[in-house]
Amino acid sequence: MAKLTVRDLDVRGQRVFLRVDYNVPLEEKDGQMVITDATRIVATLPTLKLLMEKGGRLILTAHLGRPKGRRDATMSLKPVAVKLSELLGKPVTFVDDCIGEKVEKAVAAMKDGDVVLLENVRYHNEEEKNDPAFAEKLAKVAEVYVNDAFGAAHRAHASTEGVARVVAKRGGKCAAGLLMERELKFLGDELENPARPFVVILGGAKVSDKIKVIDRLLEKANTILIGGAMAYTFKLAHGQNVGKSLVEPEHKRTALDAEAKAKKLGVNFQLPTDVIVATPVDTGKVNKKGKPVFDFANIRTVTGDIPDDAEGFSAGLETAKHYAQIISGAKTILWNGPLGMFEDARFAAATNTVAQAVADVTQKNGAKSIIGGGDSVKALNKAKLGDKVTFMSTGGGASLEFLEGAVLPGVAALSDK
Ligand code: ADP
Ligand code: MG
Repeated sequence: MAKLTVRDLDVRGQRVFLRVDYNVPLEEKDGQMVITDATRIVATLPTLKLLMEKGGRLILTAHLGRPKGRRDATMSLKPVAVKLSELLGKPVTFVDDCIGEKVEKAVAAMKDGDVVLLENVRYHNEEEKNDPAFAEKLAKVAEVYVNDAFGAAHRAHASTEGVARVVAKRGGKCAAGLLMERELKFLGDELENPARPFVVILGGAKVSDKIKVIDRLLEKANTILIGGAMAYTFKLAHGQNVGKSLVEPEHKRTALDAEAKAKKLGVNFQLPTDVIVATPVDTGKVNKKGKPVFDFANIRTVTGDIPDDAEGFSAGLETAKHYAQIISGAKTILWNGPLGMFEDARFAAATNTVAQAVADVTQKNGAKSIIGGGDSVKALNKAKLGDKVTFMSTGGGASLEFLEGAVLPGVAALSDK
């Protein structure tokens, strides 16, 4: 069922509780916390501006980091209020708590189109517990609820779910913001009846992370292209040697079941034909987390078995070219999970080749390309192709759950159209 969005709302003179994703990276400089990347703040501006034009009074709530129910100055949203005010070109009132008298006083002073940002909602333990009394306290100052934080919608917390329920119970409306609306459109509606051929690229580290997504997409896709470390579990299931590669032997059955299902449904299911491997060498050093640091010797491409001393780090070039060829004929593409350990340039070529193919077919043939998954988005941005695809999801874990077909609590809590 389609959800109500901010476009449908008439909020003149009304107080709008607006849950946003302001979980921005901060760094300490000369004793002050400085925002190092304001992308998430900028991304909310269309929703804010629309609601301001409509004459709403905006009460913004967000979390930052994991303060675990305690006040922690390094996780304050105060720098965000400063930045937001700059971006909006108008004052943003910051309140150093998210419930209580201070909030009520600030809200009472608001005029239509005003913006208030409340302090980190996770300073209170009750937020993550979705405590009903806390949700009532949050909801006290508002008559409308809007959620624009898709990345937090898979959590049933007070600000993502509880408040909406309180507002709805009073007869108030609960709507999706413009960012949330786009996520639901591209990860949801567009994939319900995709233009065909519909090609799905699935990579990443583990089969176990993606079982449900594979299973669901097998029922929708024409072609599934497998990459990343999860390919080695398929290899293992076929009785091939995987050397020191990351595998999940307990999921051999899962891999074989997926292939059998593909065959039954007539889905073209492709596995890498070549692999870039290296021999890991312990440097004797440890990283910040105390884990041993490895170097990679003898980087080479193999087909078939992976030698005992070697570990697979990416699909090979033959695979990448083959996948690119298939992608060039697609009308809809969903990509979740990189094809290799792209963070290291020596293992990024296959991911980059596929990224370029996805960008090309989007730009030249008008294909729709949808990227879900935090690391996939990072890979696209690293290849400077982020603006050449149709849509990149902002919700890492949330997008994965949504693609699995799960009902996200933060979405379910919104009013139906
Ligand atoms: P996403 O966040 O897009 O859903 P995942 O979190 O599932 O993607 O997987 C991304 C991670 O998988 C990356 O950090 C990448 O380094 C790792 N990865 C991909 N292929 C391999 C491989 N062959 N060997 C080791 N790690 C890999
Ligand atoms: Mg990830």
